Amino acid sequence: MSHTVQDYPDVQLLIDGRWRDGAGWIPVVDPATEEEIGRVARADTAALDSALAAAAKGFDIWKNVGAFDRSKLLRKAAELLRERAERIARLLTRENGKPLAQAKAEVLAGADVIDWFAEEARRQYGQVIPARQPGVTQLTVKLPVGPVAAFTPWNFPINQVVRKLSAALAAGCSIIVKAPEETPASPAELIRAFVDAGLPDGVVNLVYGLPAEISEYLIPHPVIRKISFTGSTVVGKQLAALAGQHMKRATMELGGHAPVIVARDADIGEAVPTMAMQKFRNAGQVCASPTRFLIEEPVFGPFLDGFAAAAKAVKVGNGLEDGIDMGPLSNPRRIAALEALVSDAVDRGARLVAGGSRIGNRGWFFEPTVLADVPVDARIMNEEPFGPVAVVNRVASLDEAIAEANRLPYGLAAFAWTRTSAVADRLSAEVEAGMLTINHLGLALPEVPFGGIKDSGYGTEGGSAAVEPYLETRFVTRRG
Ligand code: NAD
Repeated sequence: MSHTVQDYPDVQLLIDGRWRDGAGWIPVVDPATEEEIGRVARADTAALDSALAAAAKGFDIWKNVGAFDRSKLLRKAAELLRERAERIARLLTRENGKPLAQAKAEVLAGADVIDWFAEEARRQYGQVIPARQPGVTQLTVKLPVGPVAAFTPWNFPINQVVRKLSAALAAGCSIIVKAPEETPASPAELIRAFVDAGLPDGVVNLVYGLPAEISEYLIPHPVIRKISFTGSTVVGKQLAALAGQHMKRATMELGGHAPVIVARDADIGEAVPTMAMQKFRNAGQVCASPTRFLIEEPVFGPFLDGFAAAAKAVKVGNGLEDGIDMGPLSNPRRIAALEALVSDAVDRGARLVAGGSRIGNRGWFFEPTVLADVPVDARIMNEEPFGPVAVVNRVASLDEAIAEANRLPYGLAAFAWTRTSAVADRLSAEVEAGMLTINHLGLALPEVPFGGIKDSGYGTEGGSAAVEPYLETRFVTRRG
């Protein structure tokens, strides 16, 4: 089937309310065809200086806009995003590869995130603290922390930006977004919705370029008061260290290696299709993707057979075509990484039950892959695969499952299946993860926390605590 698509734009920087070119261009490639489809502007230091000056100016304006009006503007941006969802989804699929339906769902979910933060903008309460002496009033007030620098990756080009942007704007902060160079057009359209909703110039600025060059320039800069990063643990640690050196607040949403504990009493008929859908969504390029399946021995056989069949049934292809379940990987680095992880596991004795290879030689497609009985020293048991590969291992007991789940330094998402309340209670208490979903998929809604513990980072990007990192609490005591 042919897929005629709209022209992909040259994506510009947004600085002080003006869309402009940079110091050069970076090519954008369609991962399904490997064709260059467009270009994105590269910011140099002069552009970053302009963005910083604009963010400082924008902060002075935005912090004085009342919460009620900030909320209204956010809601307007959400409406515009919904109206434009179809068109933005097509850009997203072209640059990232995910199936169109998933791209559209991401855009619409982005609008829901904005709405959530629009409401939260109106609910950032201070306190009145009872005083020891009569005539003394003790108050805490919440004030926006200042201009924010946000660094976001290519796997959810809209979602990763919208959580940071909406929380910052809800709090009254201005922001410079360094969006992903691989997938620049959809986040630019997200930001355009805010501009078109009437956001004052300089409140949001958008840059692209060489990630390390930009983060090393922005994070230490005195204008920036807070940073937020989503990406790998290794880069997150570098950026958190830099932020620490300069006493900047940081939110870090980093890598994971999510365990899936399937207890002997689990509903396998429901667990298999639900987890297969979750595993192969976005071609597994999800920080919360299920990766280490730990199956109690009595149900290991049925689970593995069902899961391998589900993997083989996944329809892989260009995300613009109808009926596609899984698109290509978003960049060739993932192909090389997955090939190495799979062959290492097989060399060490793992069984390859489904997939295992690149599909074709044009477009970065990779087979939905299932490895079973993978030894714990295999690289894939220790490194985040970030691709459509599941490890399905048997465990003799719940104790063993919990020990394996907690063995790694990661602690982002975890999944579990059981019909026994006591087992669910035990897992809730003992599995070291920022997010645990039992017997269904319930992660990443705007109103619930989203974030990790241990090496998966800190801070939440959802739920009622998500605006707090963009605010500082100040204390005022007064007599008379
Ligand atoms: P990478 O570590 O090179 O980059 C990950 C992201 O961080 C990219 O968006 C990149 O632009 C950005 N980045 C890299 N160095 C940076 C720096 N010095 N300053 C600012 N930003 C920087 O890896 P990759 O090949 O793009 O992706 C693969 C790995 O990244 C995966 O294994 C996964 O762990 C991680 N990742 C995580 C998420 C997530 O949702 N948590 C998303 C994308 C990638």
